[in-house]
Amino acid sequence: MSHVFPRHCHADLPTATRGEGVYIYDDKGKAYLDGSGGAAVSCLGHNDPDVIAAIKRQVETLDFAHTGFFTSEPAENLASKLIAHAPEGIDRVYLVSGGSEAVEAALKLARQYMIEIGQPDRTRFIARRQSYHGNTLGALGTGGNMWRRAPFDPVMVSASHIAPCYAYRGQAEDECLTDYGQRVADELEEELLRLGPDTVIGFLAEPVVGATAGAVPAVEGYFTRIREICDKHGILLILDEVMCGMGRTGTLFACEQDNVRPDIITIAKGLGAGYQPIGAMLCSGTIYDGIASGSGFFQHGHTYLGHPVACAAANAVVTKLTDGGLTAHAAERGDYLLGALQSTFGQHPHVGDIRGRGMFRGLEFVADRETKTPFAPEKKLAARLRGAAMENGLICYPMNGTIDGKSGDHVLLAPPFISTEAQIDELMDKLAASLAAVI
Ligand code: PLP
Repeated sequence: MSHVFPRHCHADLPTATRGEGVYIYDDKGKAYLDGSGGAAVSCLGHNDPDVIAAIKRQVETLDFAHTGFFTSEPAENLASKLIAHAPEGIDRVYLVSGGSEAVEAALKLARQYMIEIGQPDRTRFIARRQSYHGNTLGALGTGGNMWRRAPFDPVMVSASHIAPCYAYRGQAEDECLTDYGQRVADELEEELLRLGPDTVIGFLAEPVVGATAGAVPAVEGYFTRIREICDKHGILLILDEVMCGMGRTGTLFACEQDNVRPDIITIAKGLGAGYQPIGAMLCSGTIYDGIASGSGFFQHGHTYLGHPVACAAANAVVTKLTDGGLTAHAAERGDYLLGALQSTFGQHPHVGDIRGRGMFRGLEFVADRETKTPFAPEKKLAARLRGAAMENGLICYPMNGTIDGKSGDHVLLAPPFISTEAQIDELMDKLAASLAAVI
């Protein structure tokens, strides 16, 4: 009898015993093609020798040194490497153990910065509906997925939410993509004016919305307008790249493709590639200087900040993504993935939209392509697709509630960047068979 407290009390899960390349094997020897890198984590696949060697070297040299007493070479190297590739103005890296921790650190830093610069009346955050920023109370409070929030609403500090930039559902018939993007970006200013612009700390958004909406990038010009509004009202732009960052979309930072300069960025998942739990919050030199020349310390911290072994693993990962050319490879392989999705599902009567960037793609399912009518939530399409895919030896990431937290279904695909074209073809075959089994 198991004593593990699982995610779902009544799920009968296989036991994973081994990983090799793009496959995970269970204790019966069955192979599962990792079509979603778990949840957009395993960008290097499983069993990467360089990352494993880096972890071994580090744990044999220095297992742990508390960051209240020491800095460490792996943390220093990782921070330097990330800053060398970060968007303009980003200058400091705060190393944590995962995505939710990175978002919590971002929210608290943003609030403390406002106090340090003499604007203590700024107490609110604005985020977007259908976003996901993590499961800790602060991160969940900013997230815009109503289903995830509902039970905890009474105990959360809540952000206010504007529309996502989700052209497939939001663009009006008589509107071009650019006008649509400007219209939904302008909602930020409307919300700021409604709340009182001097009461707002910052705006939080995923450059490409992941888990809750299925790889939805913003349209061109959206983030430029968002940046203008943030600057006009003195609020911070926080971009959550926990899922879409670290090369996943074909550039190391997803926001590079939106040509936007954030004040704070959060990353995790692909940073450790599954080999170690690690996340990071990166902030501008301006924010850091505000703290350094004010109280002199960020009133935050966790025991495992900047863990040397996690940092050593992330160093090896980021080296592969940058010097090793794997991010550029992800961009190329992502084009192949898009082509394969279009030829396999482009004419599928129940695939309404194929979207995303690089090796981060989503399919949105509809009962009717013309009217974009979603399947009834009672059909539990996403849950059944997940089950059918596992039967067929495929790990993918289906989710329901795509449109508003209740209706709509999508599947998120985030294969390892090392996937061969043949393995992407295998992903298409297994996904098509799984979909046929449930629709
Ligand atoms: N932010 C985004 C955009 C995410 O997709 C996630 C996780 O899926 C998180 C934050 C939370 O990360 P973690 O699950 O590592 O706490």
